[in-house]
Amino acid sequence: MVIDRSSEPGSGSTGRATGGFRAQFGSAINIRLSLMAREKLLHFEEETGVDPGFEQTGYLFLTSSPAQLDRLRLVNDLQRHHGVGEARIIDAREAAALNPAIDEGSYIGAAWSPSDGFLRPLEILRGYSEAAVRMGVRFESGTEAMAFEKQRGHLVALRTNRGEIAAHTFVNAAGAWAARVGEMAGVDVPVVPVRRQVAATVPTTALPSDMPMTIFADDGFHLRVRDGRVLLLWPDSARVEDPFETEVDDLWLKEVRRKSDARVSLLRDVPFDREASWAGLYEMSPDRHALLGTTSDASNLILVNGSSGHGVMHAPALGQLASDLILGRPPQLDIDPLRPSRFAEGKPVQLIELL
Ligand SMILES: Cc1cc2nc3c(=O)[nH]c(=O)nc-3n(C[C@H](O)[C@H](O)[C@H](O)COP(=O)(O)OP(=O)(O)OC[C@H]3O[C@@H](n4cnc5c(N)ncnc54)[C@H](O)[C@@H]3O)c2cc1C
Repeated sequence: MVIDRSSEPGSGSTGRATGGFRAQFGSAINIRLSLMAREKLLHFEEETGVDPGFEQTGYLFLTSSPAQLDRLRLVNDLQRHHGVGEARIIDAREAAALNPAIDEGSYIGAAWSPSDGFLRPLEILRGYSEAAVRMGVRFESGTEAMAFEKQRGHLVALRTNRGEIAAHTFVNAAGAWAARVGEMAGVDVPVVPVRRQVAATVPTTALPSDMPMTIFADDGFHLRVRDGRVLLLWPDSARVEDPFETEVDDLWLKEVRRKSDARVSLLRDVPFDREASWAGLYEMSPDRHALLGTTSDASNLILVNGSSGHGVMHAPALGQLASDLILGRPPQLDIDPLRPSRFAEGKPVQLIELL
């Protein structure tokens, strides 16, 4: 049984994701999760009957700094070591050929992987939920988790606004709200919300629809084309009074405009559409990696939390691994690095940050 307090599935962060997929990560475990997810995405339609919209148009990480290029090289070595042989470091000329829409002179080199790309978050949600319903899963919308009944470190029932649910195993999949659900079970889930905003242009053909995801690694500014608009993102660190706030900020839009004008001349005359722009929440963990597994505070509460902004692309892998845990099957990859206790042990996942 899946419960969600909202009226419609996907109204948390999943419906607000822009739909990027990459295996170009800076830690072994994230690379492995991506490769496992990629395999499942390639067979998603066979498995669920729904096209996940997986398009391998590539991810291009540009940089204008020699030090950052060295970092990209270091991360690239890690990726190649863990099986992403197609990812490589390229010079500015090759980067210009891969994305001629970006002003030359705004970068000196890049990391590139042609097997990264895009997916459709709500189609993935639809594929999995329709397949689950066929297999007997019940979905209850408008049902809010409120408190757990616990006996000797074991959860026996969940109280909701629509009655009590008894179960053998519970899963916390509450995205940016995971800490609150954890608290109900007496489990510390170190996941905090972080607002992420997306600027959308008016409908335009200024940039080609098959343009790769293009990221300026120096400040995280990135852009892609989706459904006839250009989407532009930049992870600002402005403090928001209410951490669950999801309004788009005008000052942020102005800064994104400035960054875009300085690097993408082709977009200078294309206005942003404020109404079509949006914001949502990342579910950040302290080391920016997912938590997967149980804790000694509640032995039958499985945490699948804290993907830190990669939760759609990693969902096919994390869902499979969580089901392995529930069924007592050996997981298909070593998930020890994601054990929730790592923070208390002082052993967070080590990563070379890319974004
Ligand atoms: C602007 C933006 C762009 C992004 N781009 C990407 C991207 O390109 N690629 C990528 O992989 N990821 C991206 N992400 C991150 C991605 O959206 C998340 O990692 C992912 O959606 C998390 O999925 P989830 O199912 O854990 O959480 P959610 O989709 O948020 O689902 C959690 C659900 O829990 C429900 N809930 C909460 N509390 C309770 C309660 N007490 N009782 C019952 N139900 C409850 C909520 O209603 C919600 O529906 C992006 C996020 C944002 C905001």
